[in-house]
Amino acid sequence: MKDWTTAAAELYDGGFRPMFIDGKWVEAQTGETFDARNPADGTLLATVPKGSKADIDAAVKAARTAFEGPWANWTPFERQNLLLKIAEKFESEWERLCLSDTLDMGMPIQRTLGNSRRVLGMLRFYAGQAVSIHGQTIGNSFPGEIYSQTVREPIGVVGAIIPWNAPIAGSIWKIAPAIATGCTVVLKPSEEASLTVLMIARIMQECGLPDGVLNIVTGYGVDAGAALAEHPGVDKIVFTGSTATGQAIARAATGNLKHVSLELGGKSPVIVCRDADIEKAVPVAAMAVFANSGQICIAGSRLFVAREIHDEFTRRVADYAANLRIGHGIQEGTDIGPIISARQAERIEGYLSVGPNEGAEILTGGNRVAGDDFAGGHFFHPTVFGGVTDEMTIAREEIFGPVISAMPFDTLDEVVERANATPYGLAAGIFSTHLGTAHKLAHRLKAGSVWVNMYHAIDPAVPFGGMKMSGYGREGGLQHVEEYLDTKAIWINA
Ligand code: NAD
Repeated sequence: MKDWTTAAAELYDGGFRPMFIDGKWVEAQTGETFDARNPADGTLLATVPKGSKADIDAAVKAARTAFEGPWANWTPFERQNLLLKIAEKFESEWERLCLSDTLDMGMPIQRTLGNSRRVLGMLRFYAGQAVSIHGQTIGNSFPGEIYSQTVREPIGVVGAIIPWNAPIAGSIWKIAPAIATGCTVVLKPSEEASLTVLMIARIMQECGLPDGVLNIVTGYGVDAGAALAEHPGVDKIVFTGSTATGQAIARAATGNLKHVSLELGGKSPVIVCRDADIEKAVPVAAMAVFANSGQICIAGSRLFVAREIHDEFTRRVADYAANLRIGHGIQEGTDIGPIISARQAERIEGYLSVGPNEGAEILTGGNRVAGDDFAGGHFFHPTVFGGVTDEMTIAREEIFGPVISAMPFDTLDEVVERANATPYGLAAGIFSTHLGTAHKLAHRLKAGSVWVNMYHAIDPAVPFGGMKMSGYGREGGLQHVEEYLDTKAIWINA
């Protein structure tokens, strides 16, 4: 087993880490900073600039100048080469990036390391996309030699706002399509996890990314985030985060009618049919929530189990949960790391008390982890609630913590109706050994991604995103670059 402690101490020493505007590493114009702390033990990793409106203005200006400068003349092949070079550098720096992520937001290092296929795949997938963008020649109704064609142009300056729960993949999924299409970016990472995003900007700069093409403004949502969302110099906002913030961003974006894509929250159902392979389904259904301590947008937090197997299945999920190893993310073998912040931990604690108050039964967990090893952080035992009904708060609201609400069902029609009875529509899971059943359910569920006999699969080549109040727009897949492009029709009278 690798000991990450020394490398961790060398990576962050509590010093100042500047943000990145117009190719320069700068302080906030106010000179203010805020602390980046390790959520596992509260130690100070670094201080970062507390960017605000003035810094966003400077970053948007730099992004506009870059958009209209030499970057506009880069050929698709040059942009492709840049993305491939970044992918190569990511590969060689992957351990450092993952360690930074684990220290900054707590995700167990095994899990971050395991994301390399997806993240490197993203960079290489969009490198391929860069040289595949094309318009059309279109026949028209005009007599004579009047020709019409379309060209695809980069949409312009993209404002990207991301949450803290997956900084590497979250930022690359915003930046890579921008580079592929020739856009420029102002990215505001979450105030809870800025450090790895700054490291990513440094890697990209070292790979030859021109000044101003990517700008990172660290800071708070209500301040730097809001300034970016309403900025008249931004052509498009790509946002990942909570539904409430997504609504605020969509409202702020109306000022200059900027385009908006939103990847928001969820309350995803996992349906275990009576013919499911229980052995295989138990760990997957458990980790559909407990991965990253439940701090995942796609968490399959409503577990619907066919009544015939409900008691056995939920008991086995509870046993599985009780055996997960809780600890600091840099300890290899940790399954469940810390919760990101005191505020988030208090929210989870609220749900852990409201559940039993409304009549749910705790099958396992239900409380914080005590002990000296966990002092300074916020750790929870993975929790499985039984006896849950659809009306209970824990079955309706996104908890964003390690909590499963298990419920029995009797018929497929009934479970489809109950699974869809949520404002969200991000993801769903189905466990069945009967292909016909799985197929029918998959088609009837209102969710952007449906996994059968698996969960969590996300791939750069496959569209990902939400329906209903889980947002609109897609990341991944061929249609993703479309969201960074505009179409121009050109008419020629020959
Ligand atoms: P959040 O909405 O609180 O914050 C997300 C980002 O928005 C942060 O950078 C924050 O600083 C910024 N922000 C906050 N208020 C803002 C405002 N008024 N204007 C502009 N920006 C603002 O979310 P979070 O707590 O960081 O992340 C958890 C949420 O994100 C959950 O709801 C989760 O489901 C969702 N999420 C969704 C996906 C997805 O792909 N659908 C992925 C990860 C997380």
